[in-house]
Formats: sequence, structure tokens, C-alpha cells
Amino acid sequence: MTQPTTGVPTTGAPATEITAEARRRRTFAVISHPDAGKSTLTEALLLHAHAITTAGATHGKAGRRGTVSDWMAMEQARGISVTSAAIQFEYRDSVINLVDTPGHADFSEDTYRVLSAVDAAVMLVDASKGLEVQTMKLFDVCRQRNLPVITVINKWDRPGLDALALMDEIRTRTGLLPTPLTWPVGVAGDFRGVIDRSTEEFIRFTRTAGGATAADSDRVPFEVAATEEGEAWVTATEESELLGEEGQDHDEATFLANQTTPVLFAAAVLNFGVQHILDTLVDFAPAAEARVDAAGGHRPVASPFSGFVFKVQSGMNASHRDYVAFVRVCSGQFRRGMIVTHAASGRPFATKYAQHLFGREREVADEAWPGDIVGLVNASALRVGDSIFESEPVEFPPLPMFAPEHFRAVRSADSSKHKQFRRGIDQLDHEGVIQVLRSDLRGDQAPVLGAVGPMQFEVVEERMTHDFGAAIRSESLPYQIARRTNRESAEILGHDRQVEVLMRSDGTLLALFSTPWRLRNTVRDHPELMLEDLAAGA
Ligand code: GDP
Repeated sequence: MTQPTTGVPTTGAPATEITAEARRRRTFAVISHPDAGKSTLTEALLLHAHAITTAGATHGKAGRRGTVSDWMAMEQARGISVTSAAIQFEYRDSVINLVDTPGHADFSEDTYRVLSAVDAAVMLVDASKGLEVQTMKLFDVCRQRNLPVITVINKWDRPGLDALALMDEIRTRTGLLPTPLTWPVGVAGDFRGVIDRSTEEFIRFTRTAGGATAADSDRVPFEVAATEEGEAWVTATEESELLGEEGQDHDEATFLANQTTPVLFAAAVLNFGVQHILDTLVDFAPAAEARVDAAGGHRPVASPFSGFVFKVQSGMNASHRDYVAFVRVCSGQFRRGMIVTHAASGRPFATKYAQHLFGREREVADEAWPGDIVGLVNASALRVGDSIFESEPVEFPPLPMFAPEHFRAVRSADSSKHKQFRRGIDQLDHEGVIQVLRSDLRGDQAPVLGAVGPMQFEVVEERMTHDFGAAIRSESLPYQIARRTNRESAEILGHDRQVEVLMRSDGTLLALFSTPWRLRNTVRDHPELMLEDLAAGA
């Protein structure tokens, strides 16, 4: 059944077509510290997508419904974006996939998984705050994943930090050299506009929020701006030249190698700079390309279909509980109804119910290409991290789990609901909502849940009660630190009454410690023990 990697699949589109479609794809996520403007920017991008649709641009199949604003209304009513997965729209001659990430740091494990499914990130920074805690963590994750980052300094309409100082902060704290594509004229708060450093035009900032492209299109030639903007223009051009002398001009190779980050100045709420972000994605961000597999090889985009599950969600449709596995297409042409192989079990898997998810609205996905996201409905055999493929086997690297820092022992509040309890916990484990740890000592009906952030427990409680009809009782455990260990060490640790060893459902043995001090003492007394750090993403 196997075919040469670069050959034409027996079914599906020819390699040339797959390569061409992959080249058009830009798949990215917007990430930021909470409050920097992620929802605002996403909305502005959606408006843009909507504008394109209503303008009658060819946009997939005929009869596509204008779902974007419906979704927005729903998300706004809820106040927090919890159910969306990805939206797709055409821009210029590219197809943009914007994959949503949760806003709250407690769900950083989900964010990490999303970042494994995209090819670039747009990092929003609040102009008045600079780099915040979550900004730094996310920059770190991007570096670990080698993900190119486009940095957007947002809220430039308001008083903020000095632009050069911000560039310095980025350079010294992230190790990335900022290469501004635009440079502000006038200081934050008295914002006149930006210089487009590639064309030397002045893009005037206007306060008229509204049309999707209005603010960005007010371009003024250099000479006109020089006479109209006076001192502010002189300062800005001098600073821009200085950046050039310091080697801070955009360079495609170092950007793709995650050594430099192009920077844009924006005011998302006024739609300023939004179109420029799209242009930057199309012009500079990488297209969908060959993907590294678990064996260290590469899966070329033109090989037969393959993808991996980066997110699983259930209960998305209120009328009946369902289970959707979101797959990032890595290679080949996805065709609805095709039979794929589930790498973990070797079993065939039918893709009859494939959908593009457009927020909560769905439409049937008849085909998809490398870089696209498809939702497979009722794909309950698929877990987060699983690979699927057509004809030519491949397994993508497992999605790493974070080190949990909060632990709760749980059991069913109603002892007659053991079955529902078990099913619910397993399901939430599959979805990656929570880590499930067990030990013989505690027994099967009393697992320990491990979380990166405490809000994950709230989700578990809510879902167990409402989705599975098995309310839980839970008890906080006094542990803060988890270390990976092995059987031999676990045996020795078993004699220490202040340390508990549990097995995570992926088979990893975790030793839990109450304080850093406890851990240090154990290491000192037993230097022979295996106690490995589970760093973020390890
Ligand atoms: P998120 O938590 O990152 O999703 O941030 P939001 O999009 O919810 O924005 C947080 C707050 O910042 C909201 O009150 C927005 O209206 C405001 N905001 C977002 N972008 C801008 C901007 O460009 N300028 C100004 N002045 N406010 C903004």
C-alpha cells in the first residue's frame, strides 16, 4: 500500500496541486498576556474576513453562510472565548487559518497544543505595559517550538512606553532582535501614524473606527508627511534610520529561524494596523511545509494525507453531546469520507463527519489541504496528540504535557454513579482538560487530578456534573511540585510518607512534593534517585 513519498497518491489530488494549495496557506495563532487586545484583534480580523465575504470574493462553496458575526455575538454574550477552534478566510491570494487560543494562563497547556498546530504566532504587546508574565512565557514556548513570531505593539493610540525602549526590552528579555516594519510618528498618546519602513510612506492614523480597511489605507507620500508632521516626522525618520544602522531591518531568513521578530505598531480597537498584520502574514510568514515526524524524518506536504489531533472538545452542540477532534492537516488532500488509519491503534477510521469549524457554526468540510484545520465529529477514538494518515504511515511527535502544579483527589459524590464517574474522568483525560494520576493505594475510583492552573478544576467540576451526570467531591492535596521518576526510585520514595508517587495515564510516573524544600532534602538524602524536571513542554 505504501507509495513513494513524493509520488502521486492513488486517490486525491496530484502532488503539484497539493503543493500549490499548501503554499497558499498561512496558519497562525494570536497570543498575548490577558488584556493586551487578543479578542479585539481577532474580532478585527474576523470583520476583515467578513468584509471579504460580503464583498463577494470567491470564498469556498456557494451558499456559505455569513457565520462570522453570529459567532462573535455568541462569544461576546458569553464574554469569554471557550468553544472556538479555527476560522478560515481568504486574503489576497492566500488562505488564512486563524487558530484560537484560550486567553487565561490557567489553560496554557491548551495554548501550547495550539502552538504545535500553527506555523507562526502573532504576539500582542500592550504599549503601556511592555512584556508581561504571560508574554514572556509565550515567547519562551515559541522559541522551544521554533515558531516565527510577528510582534504587534497594540494600543498605540493611548499613552504608552517609548518605542525605542520597547524595542530594547524585547531584545534584552526575549533574545529576539526586533525588526520594525513600521515605526510610529508621534509618541503613544499623540499618535500621528506610522512610517512603512519598506516603502517609506506615511500611514496616517485616523480615529474613524469602522470599515475593515479604512484606517490602513490612508497612505501619504514621504514628502507630504515631512511638511505636515514637522518635528514628529523628523524624530521618527531619524529613529528609523538608526534602527537600520543597527541591523534592525526585516530579514526573512533570521525571522524564519526565530532569531528576529518583525514589529508592527497598531491600535486594534480602531482597526489601525490590522490589514498590515494580514499583509505581513502573507508576505513573510511561512506556508504549510514538511513536518517533522516522531522518527525525526520529514513528512513532505505532497505525500498522502496525514494530520494530528491537537484539540478535542465535546458538548459543542447543545442539542446532543458530541465529540469533535480537531486535526491539523500536515500533508496531502483531506477528502471527506476518506478512510484514514489511526496511528495509535492501527485501526481504520472513517471521516464521514468532517467539518470546518467556524466558531460554533459548522459547515461540512469536503476537502482540506496542508495547514488547514478540520473537525472530525464523533471521533471518540481519537485523543489529543494522535496521528492519522492515509496509505503511507506516519506518526507525529507526541504533544508534550506541562508539569502540573495543583493536585486534587476526586471521587464520585454519589457512590452509585461509579460508571458515569469513570467515563467522565476518562473523557476529560482524552480531551486533555486535566491530567489524571492513579495509584494502587488510592484505587481506581479515587484518582488524583493534576492541573497547570486551578481554573481547570472548575471546568472538570462543571463538565462532570452537567455532561456526565456524575458530580464529584474533591479534596486539595498539599503538593506543588511534580518530578518524573522511574520504578526503582518510586520504590525508595514509597518509604517517604511525605512524597507520593502516582502514574499518569500516559504511563509517566510522577513523584509529588509539597515544597521545594522537601524536594531538595530528598535529592540530598538520595542523590541516586531519578527525579527529572518536567519543564513546560517537557
Ligand atoms: P484580551 O484579554 O487580550 O483578549 O484583550 P481584549 O481584546 O479583551 O482587550 C482588553 C481591553 O483593551 C478592552 O477594553 C479593549 O477595548 C482594549 N483595547 C484593545 N485594543 C485596544 C487598542 O488598540 N487601543 C485601546 N485604547 N484599547 C484597546
